[in-house]
Amino acid sequence: MDSGETKAESHNNTSYAVLLDPEGDVILVVADQNILVSSVFSKMFGPDFSKGIQIRHGDRPCVNLEEDDPKAMESLLRILHYQCADISFSMEPKPLAVLAIHCDKYNCIAALRPWIAQWCSNHPGITAPEQFGYMLLAAYMFRSPIFSGLAAEATKQLAPGFVSVWEEHETLALLPETITADALSEQITQTLERLHQELQSTEGRLREQKARYTMPGFVCVNCGRIHPDTAKKCHPCNNTDLFSRRCTSDYRVAEYFTILRRCELWPSLEPFATLALSDLAFRFKCAQTDYKHQCGAKEDCPLRRELELLSERVQWILKCIKGIPIEKGVEATHGRRHSLSHGHLPTVLG
Ligand SMILES: [Zn+2]
Ligand SMILES: [Zn+2]
Repeated sequence: MDSGETKAESHNNTSYAVLLDPEGDVILVVADQNILVSSVFSKMFGPDFSKGIQIRHGDRPCVNLEEDDPKAMESLLRILHYQCADISFSMEPKPLAVLAIHCDKYNCIAALRPWIAQWCSNHPGITAPEQFGYMLLAAYMFRSPIFSGLAAEATKQLAPGFVSVWEEHETLALLPETITADALSEQITQTLERLHQELQSTEGRLREQKARYTMPGFVCVNCGRIHPDTAKKCHPCNNTDLFSRRCTSDYRVAEYFTILRRCELWPSLEPFATLALSDLAFRFKCAQTDYKHQCGAKEDCPLRRELELLSERVQWILKCIKGIPIEKGVEATHGRRHSLSHGHLPTVLG
């Protein structure tokens, strides 16, 4: 057990020490009541409890916190005892989530408020789905005001099937279903439907626009090859029956689906069932820039205008995605998988 002693005791502060026993459990040794900044510790070491009585008799009671994470508990106790010179203001999402779970468990959110504000505002640019999960969990447990905006960003970045992965995840499963399955997943599904409607209504508008424009070159009626304006015959077919080309409604619809196919948006079933909204938006942007068509209408060709409009509308829909209020998790306190330790609506930090 000696080899597991942390820095906490070497700071000439004998109020507490976190030790590790050979099995890796956290053992909290307490010598005074500085620890009482937390209401949970207050109860544990209060005058009415045996550990509190031991403290007042000058003893150093040991509490085995076998379910707790040693690193998170060390950070937590060091901050509570102002031994935080080398604790970083930025933390990776996973250790931050673990720390947040412990802060929630021991009701230390208020005491760590300045730290929480720093950690939540300094979070690294995250893109991996699991990182989003950890960061959301941290913000939820900390009752951080960044939670709502983070959930909006997660709506854009998470693939539609993320819930089934998180439900099986040992840590991310702590996020209440009211947030993951009900709010976040529902928002992703609804937005995917909206994007799909945009894709379909663009086809509808292209069909309605009947204007015809000339296109450069001639087409061979035998083989469909396109020849330059100066061509007199199709040599492979030995055919002189060449037709001038027209940008028509049918042509534009066919070309629209050719572009969607090239950008892997068509057939739509697979991408709309598996991709994150941001990935789909990127493909719509590609469809807009993939434009090679030329006709007499130039910039006013309906195909060009509709592809631009489609991409703009997709971007706009993503921009309008709303955050998810942290209060959505409140139902979780009524018998769902996880409850916040205090069983009431979390107060968002100002
Ligand atoms: Zn030909
Ligand atoms: Zn055209």
